[in-house]
Amino acid sequence: MLKHLLSVFLEYPCAFCQRSTSDAICEYCSQKLSSHQLSKSDRFKLHQDLAVFAWGKYDGQLKRAIALMKYNNKPEIGDLLGNLLGQAWLDRDLIKSNRAKLKVTVIPIPLHSKKQKERGFNQAAIIAKSFCQVTGYSLNSQGLIRIRKTKTMFDLRSVAEREKNMQGAFRISDKLPQHPVLLVDDIYTTGTTIKESVRVLQENKIKVIGVAVAAKAGIDSR
Ligand SMILES: [Zn+2]
Repeated sequence: MLKHLLSVFLEYPCAFCQRSTSDAICEYCSQKLSSHQLSKSDRFKLHQDLAVFAWGKYDGQLKRAIALMKYNNKPEIGDLLGNLLGQAWLDRDLIKSNRAKLKVTVIPIPLHSKKQKERGFNQAAIIAKSFCQVTGYSLNSQGLIRIRKTKTMFDLRSVAEREKNMQGAFRISDKLPQHPVLLVDDIYTTGTTIKESVRVLQENKIKVIGVAVAAKAGIDSR
């Protein structure tokens, strides 16, 4: 009886459809979300010499999930995505056999402080936090700092324009990472933001093993 009462109290509305659920999203929406998960062989790809690990394809319910998280103030979706990303990451054979030896510092791609204040949170930091809870990696959420406000990439068509827009956008913090860095972000589209982050870290002699994201746009087909 008590258990039953507790379970009623611990139900929340699903972040997508408002059905009551004990998780961030209900089982129905969870299944819909899973249909966008990349197959094991497609999760890890090289894009312009950068190792990109993605949980899913930036489309349908996953695209909607990310928009809801960012623009409808639902950071709990970030927890869920970080969790899924962490599980998928550990599901790699190479990681399974080397897990104990693998020392990684996770750094989320930062937002400019003004933007973070408007939104109330940095979605990449939330994803990174639950990713680290699953993988056991150490989190350095202040590893990179955004020092310049940039234009929305969406408005910039050419690669040159996008690269120029990101130049000097980041600096590293005084707290240097102890281990090689894995960057974490919500979406990987053109890679320009990530490329600039990698450049700044490498300039400071910090090794970057790649980036892990919740969703990747169709860069392979371009
Ligand atoms: Zn639902």
